[in-house]
Amino acid sequence: MDDWSKRTKAVHGGVRRSQYNEVSEAIFMTQGFVYDSAEQAEARFQQLGDDEFIYARYGNPTVRMFEDRIAAFEGAEDAFATASGMAAVNGALVSMLKAGDHVVSARALFGSCLYILEEVLTRYGVEVSFVDGTDLAQWEAAIRPDTKAVFFESISNPTLEVIDIAAVSKLAHAVGATVVVDNVFSTPVYSNAIALGADVVVYSATKHIDGQGRALGGVVLGAKDYVRGVLEPYLKHTGGALSPFSAWLMLKGMETLELRVRAQTESAQMLAEALEGHNALSRVLYPGLRSHPQHALCHAQMGAGGTVLALDLGSQERAFKFLNALKIVVISNNLGDAKSIATHPATTTHQRLADDQKAALGITPGLVRLSVGLEGGNDLLRDVENALLAL
Ligand SMILES: *Cc1c(COP(=O)(O)O)cnc(C)c1O
Repeated sequence: MDDWSKRTKAVHGGVRRSQYNEVSEAIFMTQGFVYDSAEQAEARFQQLGDDEFIYARYGNPTVRMFEDRIAAFEGAEDAFATASGMAAVNGALVSMLKAGDHVVSARALFGSCLYILEEVLTRYGVEVSFVDGTDLAQWEAAIRPDTKAVFFESISNPTLEVIDIAAVSKLAHAVGATVVVDNVFSTPVYSNAIALGADVVVYSATKHIDGQGRALGGVVLGAKDYVRGVLEPYLKHTGGALSPFSAWLMLKGMETLELRVRAQTESAQMLAEALEGHNALSRVLYPGLRSHPQHALCHAQMGAGGTVLALDLGSQERAFKFLNALKIVVISNNLGDAKSIATHPATTTHQRLADDQKAALGITPGLVRLSVGLEGGNDLLRDVENALLAL
């Protein structure tokens, strides 16, 4: 499998066939596994074999197929799948940290990630320093000899700032800190996170991996020592396991992931270029645009701008009018979906933040996040342009 391309790994990676030799992967909807003897049960619990299952909270054949497939696709040694993206972020960090440890994190984070860094870790005695993730001098100043981990979203939600994985990893590794990257907006398709220096890569599989709005899921990827030695003991005893049915959805999602993400990215690029400079918009944010402050970094890191853009309508009133006038793009709060989705972060996903925090993160009252789906690109452009005319 090592010499297969990513496309081939996405389709055949991790397959385990039952005695029936099914073509499509089986869903092992089972909580547990029967032992031939008491001696075998004892041996299983000693985990002598690699490929043996005990209880679905620890592992399950369908879940394992998804883990093996995405690990192969990402170029990671191993992976552990979780019930949601947040279970993955929480597990990745909490499993390796203890009271007294120091963490440096980018400030521009998805609301629930910020909750874990700001509220959960600190409650248990972990010290967290926040930095502007795009400013390397701030990372350099905040990382200390006792820093245990750094955390950031490689592209921030919803303002699409791109963080330099290689440069931050170099600073972190100089003090022996572990680099944990939430890589949702980069997607596994454009990710080179491990090659660039990330030690642990986290995805919400709810986003592009399912990509069809059906189920929650998450995954943590990294070296085998970390995944099986640090992460698995924490996750298997604290109950964040992915359901076998959801794992099957994610496994099948992997087969079309690259095709979907590339088609969505092509439309996102086209929309961003067509909308840039539109007189009804005060800003068009998209890392694939030359005007984006980290355009060059984004291209070096990912080779594309991704599937999400952000438009600034200037005020909440205009943003709401725009949202309400859309006919194809739906108003919701997922991203990476086959259906294009528009979100007003200030009043929904980032509602929890105080006004000054929103302002500091660039979450203006007029900002609309647009996750570009698989519809015809010209239909989407017409929909957005017509909704802008309604202003
Ligand atoms: C959605 C998202 C999460 C959380 O994922 P869930 O599957 O909703 O738990 C974490 N990080 C980022 C960047 C996200 O977009």
